[in-house]
Amino acid sequence: MLGSVVMKNDRKKFFGVMFFTAILSVVLVVLSIYFLVNKNNNFIKIVIILAIAFFMIVSIFVIFGIIILSRWVYSGNINKKSAMFLKFLLKTIYPVLMMVSKVINIDKATIQRAYCNIHNTLIENLKVKVDGSDILLLLPHCIQNSQCPYKITNDIYNCKMCGKCIVGDIIKLTSAYNMEAVVATGGTLARQWVKKRRPKAIIAVACERDLTSGINDISKIPVYGVFNIIKKTPCHDTSVDIDKLKNAIDMFIKVDN
Ligand code: SF4
Repeated sequence: MLGSVVMKNDRKKFFGVMFFTAILSVVLVVLSIYFLVNKNNNFIKIVIILAIAFFMIVSIFVIFGIIILSRWVYSGNINKKSAMFLKFLLKTIYPVLMMVSKVINIDKATIQRAYCNIHNTLIENLKVKVDGSDILLLLPHCIQNSQCPYKITNDIYNCKMCGKCIVGDIIKLTSAYNMEAVVATGGTLARQWVKKRRPKAIIAVACERDLTSGINDISKIPVYGVFNIIKKTPCHDTSVDIDKLKNAIDMFIKVDN
């Protein structure tokens, strides 16, 4: 219940940032045109024309994004084509939305959380169905107990399942689905795992910041994000809700009739 209230508030703020970005970019287009007609210097004219093109593209993308999102929220469903298009639109305007949220003082984690949740719902709508062996689970290193003497970054199966952190439960869960779990200490390593394993679907566990960058990094494979539970800062000894992880796996798993 609390989770859905938080999600609703995040979504409202996300919409707010999108509206503000749309208005701001339209105003900037109008202002740029005004400056353009009053300038004689050719170099400045070229700069202003480029600025107009940029602001126009942003405003078109954001307005389309608002329309598709609003129709989706209003009707409760979205078709595959619109879902793919919205995914592309949001990914393209994401850096601009982050800049605008900073300007209007909206916590960036809120926007990142809303972005991941919207992206997750889009992935659900794409109804991707694969075998367990085609799903890769990417885990952050902070999920391992910081006192654990076993190195699991190269091979998660070095874990002795002692119960001092959630890694043992994750191994049990993924083994039941015949899928592989790997630990990535950063974006570069995550990309290497993806390149090596060539999964058809990815479930990534991470914080808001890392999930958004992971989602934006990997475009050809559907990525579903599950937020990790951060109990201590700076980030260490984090955890994850095993039920949420199971739900994410079930969403991707192909059921043979
Ligand atoms: S469950 Fe595995 S990774 Fe976690 S502390 Fe125990 S041995 Fe280490």
